[in-house]
Amino acid sequence: MANELRFQVVGEAFKKKPLSVVAPSEKPSEYFGRKVFNRQKMYKYLPKSVYDQMIDVIENGTRLDRTVADAVAAGMMQWAQENGVTHYTHWFQPLTEGTAEKHDSFIEHDGKGGMIEEFSGKLLVQQEPDASSFPSGGIRSTFEARGYSAWDPTSPVFIMDDTLIIPTVFISYSGEALDYKAPLLRALKAVNVAATEVCHYFDPEVKKVVSNLGWEQEYFLVDEGLYAARPDLLLTGRTLMGHDSAKNQQMDDHYFGAIPERVQAFMKDLEIHALELGIPVKTRHNEVAPNQFELAPIFEETNLAVDHNMLLMSVMKKVARKHGFRVLLHEKPFAGINGSGKHNNWSLSTDTGVLLHAPGKTAEQNLRFATFIVETLMGVYRHNGLLKASIMSATNAHRLGANEAPPAIISSFLGKQVSELLDHIEKADKDDILAFAGKQGMKMDIPEIPELLIDNTDRNRTSPFAFTGNRFEFRAVGSEANCASAMIALNSAVAEALEDFKKRVDTRIPELEKKLAGTGHTAKFHAIIDVLREDIKTCKPIRFDGNGYSDEWKVEAAKRGLDTETSCPKIFERYLDEASIKMFESLGVMTEKELEARNEVKWETYTKKIQIEARVLGDLSMNHIIPVATSYQSQLLRNVERMCTAFPADKAKELNARNLKLIEEIAQRTATIETKVEELVEARKVANKIGDEHQKAIAYHDTIAPMFDAIRYQIDKLELIVDDALWPLPKYRELLFIR
Ligand code: ADP
Ligand code: MG
Repeated sequence: MANELRFQVVGEAFKKKPLSVVAPSEKPSEYFGRKVFNRQKMYKYLPKSVYDQMIDVIENGTRLDRTVADAVAAGMMQWAQENGVTHYTHWFQPLTEGTAEKHDSFIEHDGKGGMIEEFSGKLLVQQEPDASSFPSGGIRSTFEARGYSAWDPTSPVFIMDDTLIIPTVFISYSGEALDYKAPLLRALKAVNVAATEVCHYFDPEVKKVVSNLGWEQEYFLVDEGLYAARPDLLLTGRTLMGHDSAKNQQMDDHYFGAIPERVQAFMKDLEIHALELGIPVKTRHNEVAPNQFELAPIFEETNLAVDHNMLLMSVMKKVARKHGFRVLLHEKPFAGINGSGKHNNWSLSTDTGVLLHAPGKTAEQNLRFATFIVETLMGVYRHNGLLKASIMSATNAHRLGANEAPPAIISSFLGKQVSELLDHIEKADKDDILAFAGKQGMKMDIPEIPELLIDNTDRNRTSPFAFTGNRFEFRAVGSEANCASAMIALNSAVAEALEDFKKRVDTRIPELEKKLAGTGHTAKFHAIIDVLREDIKTCKPIRFDGNGYSDEWKVEAAKRGLDTETSCPKIFERYLDEASIKMFESLGVMTEKELEARNEVKWETYTKKIQIEARVLGDLSMNHIIPVATSYQSQLLRNVERMCTAFPADKAKELNARNLKLIEEIAQRTATIETKVEELVEARKVANKIGDEHQKAIAYHDTIAPMFDAIRYQIDKLELIVDDALWPLPKYRELLFIR
């Protein structure tokens, strides 16, 4: 391969280089959480009464009063200073992807001409970042000029380099969320309240229901030297051109294969950093595509898991550069091979230690299990379009429905046993159940499904929302995305379904109590079965066990009334559906105003991404590809001329035939590229005149994005004929195989 000659590969220098800071004898359990102000450290650095109050704040969401905040800040600063920290920052998750931070030092004037280090409760709890440049969809200009960040005490403070990092929400002065965390916390509260109420049918002792998230992060690695020679990767995160490598993933030899040595060193280093930050990383392996890998932690409470994923993505980027790599988190960096996703494994569990999405041992436990499965499906069914909107982005759009990742229709796969359980509840005649239950006393006719029987191999890889034994796996989330977006929609949808379920069960109980008086039956269980049966019927359209990529499914899904829209800007419209607004408002997660503002940001971001890609594609075409192709063409022309002087005319004609054909082909292809790039520029000018962000995004989707393929096609053909030594960009075969 030519890349060592054509480009500087930095890889060799980094092989085996030890970069981690831990001693080789240290065990992960010893350095886990070393850089986190976790409970152990709170216990050590805070007075007992302050510690107790902090735990109450964390566990029960009680308010933190200012004097306590001062004491907490003092303890934090002491710990931080012992670890060489000089700065602190409020860390938040703006509506652009990624995280934002602004560092301040602890340094203050001491009033006596000197300096001292200071960090008060006030600084810990609230800040006013100069945030006018973060997208707000007009919220801040409409309502209030300023936004502020406020500490989220449920996510612990941690240290990165010399800085104390404080996880915060970011909101406008009038209370609108300008970030992902604020609505996420509200959605988690809503699902906690709704699920706890439903749990009380089964166990009055339950005080709290927690939403769990275990994400599986996929990513690509590319050698830093090669990356630097690809302006498209650098500026857009994906390759806008590049012919298929002769070998890519067709041998299926990468998945679970041996991890290359250099990558192994990177992973090891990354894991150490992650563990020190309290991210419980556990699994690493190769993915399907060459150079594609996955990292997964043990699941955690959703808010913390989201923070940890955001943190991991930024740590990953830093560590990769130390190893001479660049991480590609884009959902589709390379055409023709698999893209990257981030499966979101999600479940609910109680403070009494019950996993609500796991089957139990008794009929009653399985009724509870069926309740949570069915009401999850109800939420997903009612809001399937919204859930798709929650994972949609300009970058993830390349992946969805592209025959590898989940299709662009949300459906749920349950597996044989759970399907049978639901069918059984649905079909058994109600009076039969009552009669049957009568004979059995308290027993309900709910079949038992021992946990072990829930078969993990019984999987449908094409399903975007699959039940996998004790959780649902939302597979449509993009690798680059903030999981919060999906988690806000999912937890809200399930909260609404549970609330609605509870209302209907409660109205039915009194009438059933009368009917069942003296029979020894529990009215509430029969009411639950009644409502479940209704819901199993209602949400049936969301259940699909077949091939999600097939064309028949698209037709069938449309018949079932599921959302089959594939245009990204139109999919975002689902946020403003009456049902979505009603749900978010009634649960107190987001107001209509917030939803509108956030959609403005989504449309604007979509447009900008396509705009940047269009520019990069145009520039590369005109400055890299056409000049190089033309220069090769001149070489060929010189050769043709010289052949004419070296050989008699007839012979020269024969010998020149191939080169003349190439010369013509290059002329045609470069001319086509030039025309298409001009058309692209013109189309952009037209779209840019549209004032409305929604309509502009639609124009970018409908008219600009589809123009890329025709240009790329010509470039990729040129890549095959132009002299390899001249080609200005590292090729797929070079980018994709780490040595
Ligand atoms: P896979 O076979 O899909 O790779 P893993 O066993 O590696 O599955 O788990 C993937 C993720 O799912 C991990 O983060 C794991 O901790 C998480 N997970 C497992 N059980 C649950 C659960 N009940 N709720 C939420 N996440 C879970
Ligand atoms: Mg998985």
